[in-house]
Amino acid sequence: MTENKYLLQKASNFKRIFARFFPVLTALILAGLLMTGCSGASPGSGQDTSAVSLLPDQSEPDAHLRESAANESNSGASGDAAADNILRFHVIDVGQGLSVLAESDGHFLLYDGGDRSASSAVVAYLKKQGVKSLDYIIASHYDADHINGLVGALNVFPVQRIMGPGYEASSKVYQSLISAAESQGLAMEHPEQGNYYRLGNASFQILSQDDSSRDGNNRSIAIMLINGNNRFLLTGDNESSGEEALLSSGLDLSCDVYVAGHHGSASSTSWDLLGKAVPEYAVISCGTGNSYGHPHAETMEKLEAMEIQVLRTDLQGDLLLVSDGTSVTCTPAPCNNYTPGDPDDIPPSLQSSEVADEDNSAVQSSGTSSEQEQSYVLNTNTRKFHLPSCSSAEDILPANRQDYTGTRDELIAQGYAPCGRCKP
Ligand SMILES: [Zn+2]
Ligand SMILES: [Zn+2]
Repeated sequence: MTENKYLLQKASNFKRIFARFFPVLTALILAGLLMTGCSGASPGSGQDTSAVSLLPDQSEPDAHLRESAANESNSGASGDAAADNILRFHVIDVGQGLSVLAESDGHFLLYDGGDRSASSAVVAYLKKQGVKSLDYIIASHYDADHINGLVGALNVFPVQRIMGPGYEASSKVYQSLISAAESQGLAMEHPEQGNYYRLGNASFQILSQDDSSRDGNNRSIAIMLINGNNRFLLTGDNESSGEEALLSSGLDLSCDVYVAGHHGSASSTSWDLLGKAVPEYAVISCGTGNSYGHPHAETMEKLEAMEIQVLRTDLQGDLLLVSDGTSVTCTPAPCNNYTPGDPDDIPPSLQSSEVADEDNSAVQSSGTSSEQEQSYVLNTNTRKFHLPSCSSAEDILPANRQDYTGTRDELIAQGYAPCGRCKP
């Protein structure tokens, strides 16, 4: 972390020097554009020059300037206020899905847009934030819970660039995304690992390497948003193989804020990733009472063990994290609620200690046959069954709870699984 901080310090020194010459150079470039009769940058212009495969402090300032000049011409928000170093990172509550809006100095990035049910809410949210146009849209991957709302945004806001992984999905919503982009004259860009892009006074780096051998989730574009010394890590729905690829890239994954991969699923957020990222805050975006049980107990247990503060859209709604380049403040404050989405979900540490108990209880309970009738409590949502005395049974929502008298075998035949905690 120390070495990293040093690099970031260098980056902010660069930023100060850059800021001093910025107005003069911008004026020269804009004058140049006007003289050639080009009144506005066409979408995707500067495509080759704005992506710089170098650290921000080593990249050609010229490339950044051209990009910024192009951004300036399309943004109304940055004119009056003096350039500030604030990065606003909105995690929009889209239920089961993901949508993140990042803003620096009047420039906007929309990373995913949630599912269909949230699409109009995302557009309304963006309008409320003063979005007139989007500098970037990134589709982490093409699952409906990430791109439906992007179609809505493309239909309302002018967009300069759109990025996504290099596969095609067979779904209707994917077709809608591509045609909504095309109707603005945009082609889907497949950004390369290591490239940097400027977003106002902040920047982001592409962390993932697209690999056709992996599935959609594991081809998610992962990015690091960087504002001064603050870093925000987004990995989309990357699961273990995608995370392994991120780890083997050697890129700096250390961050202040980590948006937990795949909605807090146990298939993501490996110990290795957390060991490199060491975030102060973890953000979970998932729907209340979602059918996947997100976030999973295994993930929440890791976050709790590392004393990472937690913010959750399923419990807290919309989240806003603001970086001033040195620290991050959260609204609302972290809930630090580490309970899983599914109350039946048992973290691995408890499971292993109960395996030992199970050996003993198996002997004790060998008298009761699985064909013997007795009372159980069912969770019709998660399809788990409990003993009436089980603590997890108390947490079942009334709508999902059903009392049952019968045999264990009957329940298993009906597709129910025994609770891991009470072991009925
Ligand atoms: Zn998803
Ligand atoms: Zn997905």
